[in-house]
Amino acid sequence: MNIGFIGLGNMGAPMALNLLKAGHHVYVYDLVESAVQMLEAAGASRESSPAQVARQEIDILITMLPASVHVKQVYLGDEGVLAAVGKQVLLIDSSTIDPQTAREVAAQAAAQGNDMLDAPVSGGTGGAQAGTLTFMVGGDEAVFEKARPVLQAMGKNIVYCGGAGNGQVAKVANNMLLGISMIGAAEAMNLGVSLGMDPKVLAGIINTSSGRCWSTEVYNPYPGVVETAPASKGYAGGFGADLMLKDLGLATEAARAAKVPVVMGAAAQQLYQTFSSQGHGKLDFSGIIKLFSNQ
Ligand code: NAD
Repeated sequence: MNIGFIGLGNMGAPMALNLLKAGHHVYVYDLVESAVQMLEAAGASRESSPAQVARQEIDILITMLPASVHVKQVYLGDEGVLAAVGKQVLLIDSSTIDPQTAREVAAQAAAQGNDMLDAPVSGGTGGAQAGTLTFMVGGDEAVFEKARPVLQAMGKNIVYCGGAGNGQVAKVANNMLLGISMIGAAEAMNLGVSLGMDPKVLAGIINTSSGRCWSTEVYNPYPGVVETAPASKGYAGGFGADLMLKDLGLATEAARAAKVPVVMGAAAQQLYQTFSSQGHGKLDFSGIIKLFSNQ
């Protein structure tokens, strides 16, 4: 297939590389020259704007951008995608954004005859490189089936979540729970160690007991408990605290719009905001344990 790809950052670049590896022709655009050059060297064609990508003979156009404001700009701006794209092109936004914006942009695409899916991902940069991402997809189910083979070149679990915006709903609900559970894991580990427990023994007990969760087992925030976790590497790499703060903001904003209480989610957002304001926004999100201890 011929595929347009806009947004070649930590996630988008390896995703576009996997499309090239699968034999697709890829037309790319990003604001950062070095990112474009890397894809060009791997065989992609460079374009000069989102509209220029949209004007190519493409079947599918994928975007992987930081936040809602960039998605609106790239799709709805003057040199944007919708102003230039042919009706036959299927649009897929894989950025993590709020469900309301995803629904607004999909409605504008539909009004001019374009099918659009929201398809945010989980699995991090490692999953993007390995082609093992989970895609949470919202939109028309028949359109989802058309997109599935292309998404499979970048991911392992491709899950249909319902109508437009529902991919983003699944993503914000999961990440809100992750933020809350990481803070809980940090508090519990710090309490136990402060009261005299060995961190590895404590984690071993939690992970065979009812307190067990992904944040205690796979990604424990206490240094030295899980050798491969960012906590054991000075909280470098992984999923940045500022990205978690963004996702908690999406969850609380979506909850406000829907008039649904998210008490723990709002508390988690404020704790990550505190952590970020202390200059730790670039650390892995499990570094939140620093709020409770000297780790
Ligand atoms: P990133 O900041 O590394 O990359 C975003 C890219 O978009 C950059 O290269 C930037 O230059 C480009 N961009 C911004 N505005 C643009 C515009 N107007 N036109 C063209 N390009 C533009 O971010 P990332 O880590 O790749 O994340 C992308 C999305 O995926 C975010 O919504 C993030 O929340 C989500 N996500 C990230 C991870 C992760 O572990 N990094 C995991 C899951 C989901």
